[in-house]
Amino acid sequence: MAKIEKRLNELQPDEKGFFGTYGGAFIPEPLVTVMNEISEAYLKVKDDPTFIEELTMLQNTYTGRPTPVYYAKRLSEMLGGAKIYLKREDLNHTGAHKINHCLGEALLAKRLGKRKVIAETGAGQHGVALATAAALLGLECDIYMGEVDVKKQAPNVKRMKVLGAKVVPVTSGTKTLKDAVDAAFEAYLEDPKTTMYAIGSVVGPHPFPMMVRDFQSVVGREAREQFLEMNGKLPNKVVACVGGGSNAMGIFSGFLDDGEVEIYGVEPGGRGPEPGDHAATMAYGTKGIIHGFACYLLQDEQGEPLPVYSIASGLDYPGVGPQHCYLRDIERVKYVIATDRDALVSFYNLSRLEGIIPALESAHAVGYAANIAPKMGRDETILVNLSGRGDKDMEYVLERYPLEAYERQQLFV
Ligand SMILES: *Cc1c(COP(=O)(O)O)cnc(C)c1O
Repeated sequence: MAKIEKRLNELQPDEKGFFGTYGGAFIPEPLVTVMNEISEAYLKVKDDPTFIEELTMLQNTYTGRPTPVYYAKRLSEMLGGAKIYLKREDLNHTGAHKINHCLGEALLAKRLGKRKVIAETGAGQHGVALATAAALLGLECDIYMGEVDVKKQAPNVKRMKVLGAKVVPVTSGTKTLKDAVDAAFEAYLEDPKTTMYAIGSVVGPHPFPMMVRDFQSVVGREAREQFLEMNGKLPNKVVACVGGGSNAMGIFSGFLDDGEVEIYGVEPGGRGPEPGDHAATMAYGTKGIIHGFACYLLQDEQGEPLPVYSIASGLDYPGVGPQHCYLRDIERVKYVIATDRDALVSFYNLSRLEGIIPALESAHAVGYAANIAPKMGRDETILVNLSGRGDKDMEYVLERYPLEAYERQQLFV
């Protein structure tokens, strides 16, 4: 850990957007100009006091920041080891951390004089958060969504429509997230003057991984201060789930400089190690390119992304944010796995012991913490980023993994 030392928290990508050899912008020529414009604009506003003031005001009065850090006493005592603390991002307006970067991106679009924001969405969580920010700031909002997902995620499609967004079903390819990204970028290229692309995680071409991380870093700043105030010292371990990696980058960025804090990114191990049964990019991926950036990637011999799976639809992405790849290579962050089963057990345990129904994504982070806590001392602590609430997952969980099975302790996945 010595090789990373200080200053890591200020670590920026190089001017081409690379974290080590990851990231960059592998995009067609016309998009290059557009991305450069966004980069320049972002670098200008990010230290502009009036921008920061407006964003902070909205975070405090609209989103409900700061979100608390909560000591999960009953869960910790049941596990019989380290004390588990939760950063309650589930308490944000709209129920997850995604509003943090959507608000920033929408505000930037407004500053740039754009009329519209557009984005892709898979399960619809990013679409709902962006539609919310667009309604708040009086922007139009087009959300591209694979036709298959439109059918599967009906409640989120309805939410987006109620919020005033236009949902555009994508009928090309497999009609899922990957095709939605392509369609949204195409639409963006047609009208980059009046629209801005607002990506859903710390992925995509430069400057998005840096920008989304910066907007999420409020989570880590708050959590570090709150934890210190509660305990007089830093947590021994910080844990977050990793899909694209935005909630994880948010909380990690508060602790990267603290060499004594061990940091864990938890990927979905799904139902097993076979291709198509998980989305554990760091565990099973190799370096490749997807959606305009270089990263660890689950890919076939032709470099095409492999099918991925997780019980948590927000985690099933075959790539991962470039800064995570870099943090893995320099061994500052360890990337580990929680399975569907780990997540489900924690989904029920957190509900029963703490009265908190977590998102299945967040339940992966809790699940990993629950696996390591019993092996740690009672005076040790784990801080988990609880990225979202689980109302959206309720029906799915109850249908597939009934309560009776949990109560009999026979939760076979
Ligand atoms: C979308 C989502 C995630 C995964 O996205 P990241 O960019 O990896 O944070 C995690 N948790 C919740 C609740 C989500 O909605």
